[in-house]
Amino acid sequence: MQAENVSGEPYRPHTVTARVEGHSAKYIVLLDDGRWTCTCDDPATCAHVAAVQLVTGHPGPARKEQR
Ligand SMILES: [Zn+2]
Repeated sequence: MQAENVSGEPYRPHTVTARVEGHSAKYIVLLDDGRWTCTCDDPATCAHVAAVQLVTGHPGPARKEQR
């Protein structure tokens, strides 16, 4: 099942900037035009983006679990 892609939905901001505190550093998670990025060293296993997606209500690509 795919989530509905409703344009102009007010609940989901188009851009997000979030600071995430890691073990010894702070990372910046960005959402820009539907693309998530993070400043951490290992974006392949990045948990920061997933955490921010949860907080903001975004069903982002970093979270593919389906139950
Ligand atoms: Zn990260």
